[in-house]
Amino acid sequence: MDFELTPDQKEFRKLVAQYVDGRVAPQAAALDAAGSFPMEIFRELGDLGYLGMKYPEDVGGGGLSEPNIHYTIFCEELARASLGVAASVGVHTSTATYCLHKLGSAAVKRDYLEPALRGEKIASFALTETEAGSDVSALTTRASRRDGGYVLDGRKMFITNATVADLTVVAAKVRESAAGRADLADGQAAGARTAPAGRGARESGISLFLVDMHAPGVSVGRKLEKLCIRCSETAELVLDSVWVPEDHLLGSEGGGFDAVQESLDIDRVMTAAMCIGLARAALDAATTYTKQRVQFGRPICSFQAVRFRLVDMLARLETARLYTYYAAWLADQGRRVTLEAALAKNVAGEAANEIAAMAVSTLGGYGLMEEYPVARLLRDSYFPLVGGGTVDIMKVVVAREMGL
Ligand SMILES: Cc1cc2nc3c(=O)[nH]c(=O)nc-3n(C[C@H](O)[C@H](O)[C@H](O)COP(=O)(O)OP(=O)(O)OC[C@H]3O[C@@H](n4cnc5c(N)ncnc54)[C@H](O)[C@@H]3O)c2cc1C
Repeated sequence: MDFELTPDQKEFRKLVAQYVDGRVAPQAAALDAAGSFPMEIFRELGDLGYLGMKYPEDVGGGGLSEPNIHYTIFCEELARASLGVAASVGVHTSTATYCLHKLGSAAVKRDYLEPALRGEKIASFALTETEAGSDVSALTTRASRRDGGYVLDGRKMFITNATVADLTVVAAKVRESAAGRADLADGQAAGARTAPAGRGARESGISLFLVDMHAPGVSVGRKLEKLCIRCSETAELVLDSVWVPEDHLLGSEGGGFDAVQESLDIDRVMTAAMCIGLARAALDAATTYTKQRVQFGRPICSFQAVRFRLVDMLARLETARLYTYYAAWLADQGRRVTLEAALAKNVAGEAANEIAAMAVSTLGGYGLMEEYPVARLLRDSYFPLVGGGTVDIMKVVVAREMGL
């Protein structure tokens, strides 16, 4: 058993931290206030090789032997400055590009994946719909076979990066033809197995398509104003008779979503890593403040109630950190981490939310002011409790893995 990062991993953390402290942290509050995608930072991360670090060298990636530990470090450090930046980068570097890598043709890799890993194209992943959130099996976006390809129709909701994306991976159900033949995806006749309780279940029957965001019929609906991660843009996506060529079907008809389950699991570990970063930022801000703030003639960190709160914050953070890195390590051993990833996301997500709330309390009235970072950290800490599957759905996944 070895809990130490390797010298190479420690050096990597130092490099990422230097970039984050120099470039992301100074802009984090302004980016949040502007509520716009951090384009400059995104391009820089591409130039620095961070967007492709998880992928093999033959597609322009980092070719790392333990990509998940490295990427956990990256997510933690980035989110320490801005969960909004980390969330947008996370969607791009994870399942959106993973689908192209695992299931894309050589042409798809050349034209979309490789430019995305260089930061020249921005990716998004479009699964959720207004009536299909936790219950992914309820999605109504349809793909009809036509003219050597497919025609896609539907509306997607809450899509990260949709406003700026060049490509999106769309989840849809395949219709045999537009002219009244059986809708294969809907019926048991097609062998569709629809899991109960939603996201995180294996959702047979759902296909994945690469959609070029500049194709005719693709439009972005309203950009959504939100409580948290404001610089990560979220919007509706409309697909109105969008033709996609055959080789933009990623994986088999009805099998794409199942084929990327491993990546959806690993995304949850990365979300947990982001929570660790946010929680660290909250604890650091609170600790610094309590050493400087004087009341009753003493720094407030000398009051036991304040100290104990900081100790409780550290306890939550360290527990979540250990479990998150354990899950990342397991993934690097090639192990299936469905249970551990869902558990890590909940443990770290709830820890970050509670730590951020405790940080706000620790700063008294200043904790509620936007001039200190803790108010933003608390707002942002609500995102991981929902994005990528809610706390309840993570429990559904864990319970199923426990054989319940
Ligand atoms: C900022 C943001 C960014 C997002 N980005 C993306 C993106 O890029 N791509 C994408 O496809 N989606 C994205 N999402 C969507 C996100 O994954 C969904 O919001 C999430 O899965 C929950 O779905 P819902 O909002 O429809 O809630 P619902 O599914 O309606 O859930 C409402 C409540 O009911 C509970 N619930 C539902 N079913 C069950 C059950 N079986 N057991 C117990 N409790 C249950 C939930 O836990 C929740 O408390 C994003 C969401 C947000 C907020």
